[in-house]
Amino acid sequence: MSKKGILFVVSGPSGCGKGTILSEILKDDRFYYSVSATTRAPRPGEQDGVNYRFITRESFEMAIKEGRMLEYTEYCGNYYGTPLDVIDQKLAEGKNVILEIEVEGAGNVKRIRPDSVLIFILPPSVKELRHRLEKRGTETADVIDRRIKKASEEIRCAAGYDYIMVNGPLDEAVADMKTIISAAEMSSAANKYKIDEVLENA
Ligand code: 5GP
Repeated sequence: MSKKGILFVVSGPSGCGKGTILSEILKDDRFYYSVSATTRAPRPGEQDGVNYRFITRESFEMAIKEGRMLEYTEYCGNYYGTPLDVIDQKLAEGKNVILEIEVEGAGNVKRIRPDSVLIFILPPSVKELRHRLEKRGTETADVIDRRIKKASEEIRCAAGYDYIMVNGPLDEAVADMKTIISAAEMSSAANKYKIDEVLENA
């Protein structure tokens, strides 16, 4: 058996800075970012097929019915889901696959794929989170209020994750995430194949 990739699941409240950290991690081509499908409208600057696959409710519901989603959820009135198609192919190629999904989806992935590694990114505080969302300026005040309320519920779920990190200064946060990735890559679960290799070469 050869080295398979690891399935990483990254969660954190909207606006906590997940995207910025992940864009640094994804500069390394050992990683593959799973592009989710959503029924939410694109934000300015978001591209179809890059940030999300933006699809209609009808297409989404058809994909669920046909078993083409690893997991999905309804979040603040829109569907979000992980299309199954490329994930297993990338893991078999030895790439680490990153899913950036919310807490309910993360729990579902852990149940379906117990060898996945769950990482939660905490904002420094809820006050700071509100400040970041307001600064981003892509949501109305009403949506921001809903997302802040949701954030407090999500943060309570962080205790069920394998790893928790705080998003403070970017370079420190990126270093923290790399440390978590290295730990997962050295875990016994990810290295069973090495034991066989060593024994075969006795
Ligand atoms: P946003 O609208 O801010 O892009 O995303 C809202 C929330 O949906 C975020 O917490 C994001 O991580 C989550 N999300 C994005 N894609 C998926 C997905 O495929 N499945 C699930 N369960 N959540 C997702």
